[in-house]
Amino acid sequence: MEKIISLAKRRGFVFQGSEIYGGLSGTWDYGPLGVLLKNNIKNSWWDTFVKSRDDMYGLDAAILMNQEVWQASGHVGNFSDPMVECSKCKKRFRGDQLEESKCPDCGGELEESKDFNMMFETYVGPFKDEDSISYLRPETAQGIFVNFKNVVDSMQPRLPFGIGQIGKAFRNEIAPRDFVFRSREFEQMEVEYFVKETDWQKHFDMWKEVMNSWMSSVGIDMDKVHELDVSEEDRAHYSKKTIDFEFDFPFGRKELFGLAYRTDYDLSKHMKESGEKLEYIDPDTHEKIVPHVIEPSLGLDRAVLAVLVSAYSEDEVGEEKRVFLKLPKEIAPVKVAVFPLLKNKPELVEKARGIYEILKKEIPDTVFDSNGNIGKRYRRQDEIGTPHCITVDFDTLEDDTVTLRDRDTAGQDRVKVEDVLLKLKN
Ligand SMILES: [Zn+2]
Repeated sequence: MEKIISLAKRRGFVFQGSEIYGGLSGTWDYGPLGVLLKNNIKNSWWDTFVKSRDDMYGLDAAILMNQEVWQASGHVGNFSDPMVECSKCKKRFRGDQLEESKCPDCGGELEESKDFNMMFETYVGPFKDEDSISYLRPETAQGIFVNFKNVVDSMQPRLPFGIGQIGKAFRNEIAPRDFVFRSREFEQMEVEYFVKETDWQKHFDMWKEVMNSWMSSVGIDMDKVHELDVSEEDRAHYSKKTIDFEFDFPFGRKELFGLAYRTDYDLSKHMKESGEKLEYIDPDTHEKIVPHVIEPSLGLDRAVLAVLVSAYSEDEVGEEKRVFLKLPKEIAPVKVAVFPLLKNKPELVEKARGIYEILKKEIPDTVFDSNGNIGKRYRRQDEIGTPHCITVDFDTLEDDTVTLRDRDTAGQDRVKVEDVLLKLKN
């Protein structure tokens, strides 16, 4: 894990939040390459779960919502973790994560466990009173449920259909840990898929397939993924079936994504509390029903981490140890790097720039690199997972061929400049 965290920082993927002021626990900043990687994963999710389907609609709801939403959803009353405080050093821990009954830091006695609500509270407007309380949303799902009627009225979808959303969510974790795995601010990718009650199993199985094939398409090592059928005691009370997709992280087997059958709990609850009719009228039978819901829920930051863990590879090239990220081409932040063999030969630099500019138009994630020697450049590109490097040398000036290097094999081919684009696109 240390190797991945250090590579992530060294190469501009993930930095500690507010680092120059000593950091802010549970927050992380995505650097130049992290943004590219994260956006590639996000876009792939959006394409698979929303854009490529004719039964899905997109949504981008506000983070701040009327506090009644969270009262209705049960978050104000119940969204809490057990917190215990050490009577000696006053450190706070999550009760369910402690193995002993003493303080793990100083061995002091622990006080009785208290419920700690994980929602970040804030005030909307100039007055700090009960009525102006709002929360940074602890999940994106409620934004979808409260817009159910708006989507039905504006789009007239037929069941089954779903609404997908990507957005930030916030949880005031007592003990954030394990890099971006458990942080206080994170991004979710969620679908609420509305179905007739009798059909839920069929659609549950369909989304399970979609999740599995998507995970594999972004390069998550499927040998490390395990499906856990969550038992009735461990499920949310309204859920009739939940599967956790767990992943073998370096710090243990932990929940990566979830798939839940939430029945009609959320819509019924909001219908009752808001007084609005959150129903669907069957266009054939004119029957009014409250649809049931299947929810595939994915954490983007956990996806990024699982992709990095899956891609991290070490081997030896020549006599030298090498680190590289075996990222799928679609997910890699940089697709192609173009180098002049020597940076102090203007004719090589000019030729390389020309090739770079042509490629950049076709493949936007192309970079030009003339820093350091060629070995250093290869090492840098391997570490960020660039699938291909192109080197322009003195032969290029003679016969218009370049060296095309493959990241995974470190093998090099001599290719005609006019054929490069075709090769890269295949
Ligand atoms: Zn203590």
